[in-house]
Amino acid sequence: MTDFIPPAKPIIGDEERAAVDRVLRSGMVAQGPEVAAFEEEFARELVQGRDCVAVNSGTSGLHLGLLAAGIGPGDEVIVPAFTFAATGNSVALTGATPVFADIDPETYTLDPAHVESLVGARTKAIMPVHLYGHPARMDELAAIAQKHSLLVFEDAAQAHGAKLGGRSVGTFGTFAMFSLYPTKNMTSGEGGMVSVDSEEMRRRMRLLRNQGMETQYQNELIGFNNRMTDIHAAIGRVQLTKVAGWTAQRQANAAFLDANLQHVRTPVVLDGAEHVYHQYTVALPEALAPARASILARLKDEFGIGTGVYYPVPTNELPSFARTGGDSAVDLPNTRAATASVFSLPVHPSLSPADLERIVEAVNTVTAEAGA
Ligand SMILES: *Cc1c(COP(=O)(O)O)cnc(C)c1O
Repeated sequence: MTDFIPPAKPIIGDEERAAVDRVLRSGMVAQGPEVAAFEEEFARELVQGRDCVAVNSGTSGLHLGLLAAGIGPGDEVIVPAFTFAATGNSVALTGATPVFADIDPETYTLDPAHVESLVGARTKAIMPVHLYGHPARMDELAAIAQKHSLLVFEDAAQAHGAKLGGRSVGTFGTFAMFSLYPTKNMTSGEGGMVSVDSEEMRRRMRLLRNQGMETQYQNELIGFNNRMTDIHAAIGRVQLTKVAGWTAQRQANAAFLDANLQHVRTPVVLDGAEHVYHQYTVALPEALAPARASILARLKDEFGIGTGVYYPVPTNELPSFARTGGDSAVDLPNTRAATASVFSLPVHPSLSPADLERIVEAVNTVTAEAGA
């Protein structure tokens, strides 16, 4: 059989290995000068100079960002259910309640009208996700937030470098989190970077990640050990020099898929949006949705093409949330339709022109034979 094309492929090369070696040889591996340099470089390259604070995972970044912004028991934060569980988890971990809103079916990001219908006396914030690398509808969400005096936080885990109206994601919210997990658009092994909109947020984030202390043994608040190591930061710094090129390659790959896929709905890009294609996600026509599992099995077994379904279950219907007060009965029709019909094709920068041809040929063949 032909070589398997994986759905994602982290690119880690000699420069990353040399950077790790440099840190290991220095004998100082915990949070230190590499982390500080990574924060400055990330701020400059990806969030138009906003202050950044590095942590040990994207999930920690969301959790600490929410705590730093004062979110806690009794508060509600409106989030999408069509996302990775970490979005809702981070809200629940603070003791606040995630309130799940529907998505707009075009971009798979929060539907502003539904968000506004859910605003109540306890609502403190809206946390959109820039899902798959496409910016959420930040202008409309910001207007709703302003009208109801709400904070805006960004889950930018999948959206390094995405823009809306020329403005980088990560510059709209009180804070924004970028994940550095290996399958994301750039990695540090594990890690998260949080951009913040004020010196006060920066200070609180730095305290919370380090046991609540800035000066040793003068702990000001109860905090965590969520520090990034210099080993991870050294990897991230190398990746940061490459992410723009990788993004351009993802966009070129996406353009080829857009132009050649025949029987699926290809990603929609809003006017003024720059999509960075963390995932290239297509939707099957309604009549074919029930055949998704068999279509994906054929793509893998007969054509050697790896795919993924992000996300098959809305967060509010996960056992964890159904048990812990999540409102699984809430009706989110666009979320339900998306969970049943989407799948993601390889779009990563390692794909060759021949790989892209193979993907197109396979998807067009298998969807046609399924009855498209
Ligand atoms: C990956 C991801 C996270 C969590 O990031 P980790 O670094 O894996 O903790 C949160 N939200 C979304 C949308 C993600 O894709």
